[in-house]
Amino acid sequence: MTTNLSKPLCRICNKERGVFKCDGCSDHFCFQHTGNHRQHVIKQLDHVEEIHNLVQESLAQQSAEPRQDVQALQDELMKKIDVWERDSIAKIKKVAEETRNELIQHTTGYLTHKKLELDKLTNELCLARQNIDFIESDLREWMNKLNKMKAEIINPVKIAVREAGVPLVTKMHIDVFESFDLFERTSGKVIFEENGKVAVVQDGLENYVEVRGKSEYTTGKRTLSLKIEKLSGWSL
Ligand SMILES: [Zn+2]
Ligand SMILES: [Zn+2]
Repeated sequence: MTTNLSKPLCRICNKERGVFKCDGCSDHFCFQHTGNHRQHVIKQLDHVEEIHNLVQESLAQQSAEPRQDVQALQDELMKKIDVWERDSIAKIKKVAEETRNELIQHTTGYLTHKKLELDKLTNELCLARQNIDFIESDLREWMNKLNKMKAEIINPVKIAVREAGVPLVTKMHIDVFESFDLFERTSGKVIFEENGKVAVVQDGLENYVEVRGKSEYTTGKRTLSLKIEKLSGWSL
């Protein structure tokens, strides 16, 4: 006589009568207990619905009256954005004004500048005629200056305005951190389970390992809660 040992057990009565396999949990159930399992799964939906209602309630409550700390954080960060906006506009206005002035110096202001240069030379020539105290080198110098000015007036400089490669204002960015931290990195042999909620140390007793959270903090005061579920040879 042979016994079929591979026949699956019913998860509920533990007898070798598990003829129906549930695709959802991969367990087997006997004819009698298939219905029980179905009822059990339906009950679990009740629980999911309960949690759903709680989440819905909590969302409605917070939408109606935002939490004070959330409101305070929003106000504080809004102020930062306002300051950035004001400073950025001031920076842009300042550079625009400086560039305008510089442009004028090279265009219409250029002629005023040349006029002053010529007036100076006119004076020098008047004095030279009055006092008759000049020599050939002075004449050559005046001639050079005049030729240069003539060329500059006839051929005005070419001018263009373009944006320099360096950004004047940097873009603001919002970093969003999870309010609950998760484990993410380690220096040793650690396996992270449940999407980083659990860190399981794989090393021997004698080794220390370091685990780090996913979030990075620069300023502020934070409270991090964690639970040590298993200690190997250590006591707190
Ligand atoms: Zn059964
Ligand atoms: Zn199932």
